[in-house]
Amino acid sequence: MPIQRIDCAEGNTVLAAGRTIGAVKGPPITISCECGRTRLVPYGESWECEECGRRWNTRQIPQADYEGLLRRIRRYRLEILGLAFLALAVFIPLIVFVNQSFVFLAAILAFAWMFLYMPFWRRRVRRAAREAPSWNLRPE
Ligand SMILES: [Zn+2]
Repeated sequence: MPIQRIDCAEGNTVLAAGRTIGAVKGPPITISCECGRTRLVPYGESWECEECGRRWNTRQIPQADYEGLLRRIRRYRLEILGLAFLALAVFIPLIVFVNQSFVFLAAILAFAWMFLYMPFWRRRVRRAAREAPSWNLRPE
């Protein structure tokens, strides 16, 4: 899932792909060096390019900006979890206590979820990633 685009000082565009590892860590930021190397760097850490020795520090990205990005990602995740929970909360009692044939309706809805809602959701996440801020980093 592409998360972040960062432009380094000379205007090199960087694509950052990332997934959250644990609850606290955010998506790593991909820094592309002027010499063409790229590296995934967790926010808060710096990276010294093996090729040319330039140092890139992700702390140059304002923390508020990075937290804004985290909040947006979290919101999309919560939406999925909330909807999944709601569907379970509705269908499990219906199937268990009302009528087992609700299983078929649940299956149809699960199908619609997979093939209609998820592509829509992914499109929105991708759009959010494209609109994510990009920053100019200076080598240290
Ligand atoms: Zn380099």
